[in-house]
Amino acid sequence: MLCVECGKREAKYEGLCEVCFLKKVKFTSLPQHMEVVKCPHCGAIKFKGEWKRLSEEDMLKELIMRNLETLHEYDSIDFDFETREYEGDIELHTMFHIKYKELEAKEEHYSIIHIKYESCPRCNRYFGNYFEAILQIRGTRENELESVVQYTHERLEHYAKKNENLFITKEEGKHGGWDIYISDKKEAKKVAEELCRKYGATLKESPSIVGRKDGKDVYRMTYSVRLPEYRVGDVVEVEGEYYSIEHVSGHFVKGISLKEGREKTFDARRHKINLLRKNGELEDATVIFSQDNEVQIMDKDYKTIDAISTRELKAGENVKIVRIDDNVYVVP
Ligand SMILES: [Zn+2]
Ligand SMILES: [Zn+2]
Repeated sequence: MLCVECGKREAKYEGLCEVCFLKKVKFTSLPQHMEVVKCPHCGAIKFKGEWKRLSEEDMLKELIMRNLETLHEYDSIDFDFETREYEGDIELHTMFHIKYKELEAKEEHYSIIHIKYESCPRCNRYFGNYFEAILQIRGTRENELESVVQYTHERLEHYAKKNENLFITKEEGKHGGWDIYISDKKEAKKVAEELCRKYGATLKESPSIVGRKDGKDVYRMTYSVRLPEYRVGDVVEVEGEYYSIEHVSGHFVKGISLKEGREKTFDARRHKINLLRKNGELEDATVIFSQDNEVQIMDKDYKTIDAISTRELKAGENVKIVRIDDNVYVVP
């Protein structure tokens, strides 16, 4: 049978030859004008009432797929596209590649995408100074606050990747510490607890009622994280014995005894840990002589002194010492 259109070639598709079929049939249709709603603050896109955070490329792909109308049956459709800015809108050139039986067709469409701006709910909250919790950092030593705040930011950013409603509303230095206003109290608490584990800090939670919603009180939480008095490397006294702190994790403090060299772990909730010397306050000294239990060191004033050490030392070695009562201990 010959093509009903041209009468020259064999009819293969719906009474038409390949050439006449492709001339007559259109597979795709894409509107010449499309519109997207975009948040001017964060770039989120609203699709059918739902806000999505997409890259521009993914946004355009999604827009094309949602607006594509197919006019004829096909086996597969693929597309690529190019864009150009046009007076604040986007000019979109879409190329569809269609496969249908033995045929391959290419169809092009030109569209203008108009961008409308609307602030998304998350940004509305953000710019409305919304917060549910204040995370307070207290008890840091000199030059320590910055690194603790940085760690807190890292943890908040980590959780914000999975929770777009988590953000910092504001932050400020207060009473020698730092206050961070956070949009989500559950996430704020998680981070406060992580700070406690990492720094051996204690957590105090205090709610305050800020209003009522649907017949219930609405609470705002303050999570106050207080770092302990001691740090790794400090010399402390516990139950009359002296220790150099090796490790701190949550409530647990591991120390090494200055007199006997044995390790001991204390629970800070049960033992009073008294700070004797901060790690930065330990004195430098040089070992002069060391044999068995006899150790002599030279202090920074070039005075030779007998010292107590629980580990073997070499003459000439630089060590840290601490003077307690009338004794001089080499810090292990
Ligand atoms: Zn034909
Ligand atoms: Zn937004």
